[in-house]
Amino acid sequence: MADRVLGFIGLGQMGSRMAARLLEAGHPVVVFDRAPGPLAELVAKGATAAASPREVADRADLVFGSLPTPAILRDVALGPDGVLAGQRARCFVDLSTTGPRVAGEVAAAFTEAGRSTFDCPVSGGKGGAAAGTLALMVSGPRAEYDSLEPVLRVFGKPFYCGEKPGQAQVMKLCNNLLAATALAASSEALAMGVKAGLDPNLMCEVINASSGRNSATQDKFPRAVIPRTFDFGFTTGLSLKDVRLCLEEAEAMGVPMPVGNATRQMLAITAALHGLDSDFTSIAKTVENWAGVEIKAP
Ligand code: NAD
Repeated sequence: MADRVLGFIGLGQMGSRMAARLLEAGHPVVVFDRAPGPLAELVAKGATAAASPREVADRADLVFGSLPTPAILRDVALGPDGVLAGQRARCFVDLSTTGPRVAGEVAAAFTEAGRSTFDCPVSGGKGGAAAGTLALMVSGPRAEYDSLEPVLRVFGKPFYCGEKPGQAQVMKLCNNLLAATALAASSEALAMGVKAGLDPNLMCEVINASSGRNSATQDKFPRAVIPRTFDFGFTTGLSLKDVRLCLEEAEAMGVPMPVGNATRQMLAITAALHGLDSDFTSIAKTVENWAGVEIKAP
């Protein structure tokens, strides 16, 4: 199905880079974002602009979404001007982190209309989105997965998680809970070390050669905290949304998460102090504030 027209809705940090990769791979791509700036950037790269999610689905066979919240995803997929109202698209793939509930709702509505959906949250940040090295967690109908997989490979490495809608979302929430918790706990450890006179770069080097290594000490501290750029590319608001979705789901399932609750509070405090739009590495600033120290090279 090399001639399939692809649609892409939500051209933010992740979506703009993923849609650009589809164009580079030679696919015709129809795009929509409610913000005109990102839309114009993709058109300059060769995409065709649509005026609504519905119009994207009128013109494309397969539609991707990369959107910020479950409510927005629901509206884009099922709203009056949404993908399901379009005439042409047979399949919708949600690349956002929106949790298993809305994935179930969207899948039920599409299935009833004789169409299909996959939830396909991704991990790897804007760097991975640009380089095509994302991890993609996929759940949806097995029979249709084989025709989807070659397109997903443009974005990175797909992992098929199961047929049940939302299974990939649960996988993603587990990952993001760990990523945020590692960032919060590493902020505490590095603030303590720096206050004791240790060089944070040396600390990361030692930790990364030892049993405390994690995604924050390997990537976020060296890249965005110690150089004081706080520009990892993932907002506090999105991380808070992910951890909240994870805890709500865990509670509904009867899985206690006291450590996860502490991470949620750290993110909520960081959002209050630095704003929902701050980079989520700002969690380190929250700890620095309390500790009276800055995690920077001497
Ligand atoms: P973003 O806020 O940068 O981008 C979201 C885009 O959606 C924006 O361009 C916005 O204008 C657009 N949008 C919002 N409402 C819309 C609507 N109703 N119709 C059309 N467009 C609309 O977010 P992001 O960082 O690119 O993240 C997107 C999703 O991917 C989120 O669910 C996030 O949790 C997930 N994610 C992000 C990262 C990351 O590192 N940034 C990594 C993995 C997963």
